[in-house]
Amino acid sequence: MIENPDVIVVGAGLAGLVATHELVKAGRRVLVLDQENRANLGGQAFWSLGGLFFVDSPEQRRLGVKDSLELALQDWFGSAGFDREDEDHWARQWARAYVEFAAGEKRQYLYDLGLRVTPVVGWAERGGVAADGHGNSVPRFHLTWGTGPEVVRVFLEPVLAAEQRGQVGFAFRHQVDELIVEGDAVTGVRGSVLEASTAERGVASSRTVVNQFEFRAAAVIVSSGGIGHNHELIRRNWPADRLGPCPEHMISGVPAHVDGRMLGITEAAGGRIVNRDRMWHYTEGIHNWDPIWPDHAIRIIPGPSSLWFDANGKRMTAPAFPGFDTNETMKQILATGYDYSWFVLDQSIIEKEFALSGSEQNPDITGKDLKLALKSRVAKGAPGPVEAFKQHGVDFVVADNLADLVAGMNKIARGPQLDLADLERQIVARDRDVAHKFSKDAQLMAINNARRFLGDKVRVASPHRILDPAHGPLIAVRLNILTRKTLGGLQTNLDSQVIRADGTPFPGLYAAGEVAGFGGGGVHGYNALEGTFLGGCIFSGRNAGRALGRVRLG
Ligand SMILES: Cc1cc2nc3c(=O)[nH]c(=O)nc-3n(C[C@H](O)[C@H](O)[C@H](O)COP(=O)(O)OP(=O)(O)OC[C@H]3O[C@@H](n4cnc5c(N)ncnc54)[C@H](O)[C@@H]3O)c2cc1C
Repeated sequence: MIENPDVIVVGAGLAGLVATHELVKAGRRVLVLDQENRANLGGQAFWSLGGLFFVDSPEQRRLGVKDSLELALQDWFGSAGFDREDEDHWARQWARAYVEFAAGEKRQYLYDLGLRVTPVVGWAERGGVAADGHGNSVPRFHLTWGTGPEVVRVFLEPVLAAEQRGQVGFAFRHQVDELIVEGDAVTGVRGSVLEASTAERGVASSRTVVNQFEFRAAAVIVSSGGIGHNHELIRRNWPADRLGPCPEHMISGVPAHVDGRMLGITEAAGGRIVNRDRMWHYTEGIHNWDPIWPDHAIRIIPGPSSLWFDANGKRMTAPAFPGFDTNETMKQILATGYDYSWFVLDQSIIEKEFALSGSEQNPDITGKDLKLALKSRVAKGAPGPVEAFKQHGVDFVVADNLADLVAGMNKIARGPQLDLADLERQIVARDRDVAHKFSKDAQLMAINNARRFLGDKVRVASPHRILDPAHGPLIAVRLNILTRKTLGGLQTNLDSQVIRADGTPFPGLYAAGEVAGFGGGGVHGYNALEGTFLGGCIFSGRNAGRALGRVRLG
């Protein structure tokens, strides 16, 4: 613990650690509170894949990708679709500043801390309708060598060194329940000390209260994460008018501590929440056969070749292809009245194209093990974790022929039974279009386009007939809705100061990371370009820390 801190940080996830790192550099004394134990330092970022959005990077250029700030801004604003004058007021400014950061200083800032990325840039969220609409015109998803744990490490190490020097104190199992407001300003926090926990990282911990606490400081930074594990709050805020009815069955892509409580607590103190209805949940969720947290879901990050069918067995239409347009796909799925869909693919596609999001699902890159990475990604066979899901996952069906595959799918369907003849007709039609170069099938055209990018040449299976036994066995995956990111949140100005209902900054109160919609209360608008969340935590945490390093405190 630390006496008389200058700043209190609520939440020791990535945003909180980045802010603390900047505060330490500015000579501030910092108290960091977290409701979880020390084993959970780094929060969600530890579990993340470490995908980072950079614009016009050396890695892109080496792969022949021509990117620019102008193109990235066009993509960002085309995806965001900001349309709310008041709620998007700061978000628009954050968006421009963040894209400029991603095209400029971001890479060097992280490089100087020791972070490196792999040479293969991924092409996430490709969009697919119009040049000025949603999606990345070019590949921009840079994978951290060491994945999420490495992103955490580069900020955590200097913070732990400051703890050793007595400049930073941690109070774990301290759950903030209230912000103290005196006069016009936030001057501290109150809350509950939770019983000690030896739970391993990510495992849900007890909420038994053993004591109360109160701490004061000249400023408080809220960096408590989003609402991703709070399904009740997700249901309350679900944008049914835009996406369709809220899914009945949802599985959790984030640990239980992502509970969203601090949003309500900050609002009760006078902070303003905006864009509550904007969220970023995935449509390619599978139940983890080896779960760590309750309802643990893993997201498949798919290449473009799997055929995607809705619950009725109808092939989804452009741009609802794997990895193209998350919200449009969500809309098409929910329009059926069911909350799941199907991938149909084969062994050749799973081997080349299936990646799983999460540091623990990528032991080769997380462990910075080049030999293992080459073996698992280039050698024959699917990577080990993917193969494990194929064997043990409740959402997977594997069969040597389509009749058996459909019979297996019908056993695990939560809705209508699929019609073998209808599915076969659609797959055969698509397979016929593989036989020549000039396909009219929009997905095949998109695959041909993808394969012109060197990075996708390696990752995308060469187009072939799905029903060709040489590429078998056939595989079907029941895809569920996986809850993950909160795009709205506490409105903040460019210094990460929380804004009040009257539009003025709240003295003494700052917010960073997912709780602040990754900056401004919703830097992404309605849609994300991917790899932008860790970066949003870094940018907004940095701004908070630097702003509080500049001003006179106390
Ligand atoms: C599996 C997975 C893969 C991902 N992959 C990527 C990726 O490749 N690229 C990308 O950009 N993003 C990715 N993300 C998203 C990204 O990791 C998160 O958005 C980001 O880490 C959120 O960080 P944060 O600091 O805002 O919040 P969190 O990490 O949620 O940390 C908040 C902390 O606050 C604490 N807290 C909450 N309330 C209280 C309270 N009342 N009192 C005290 N403490 C409290 C929590 O215990 C927690 O430790 C991924 C996320 C996951 C889960």
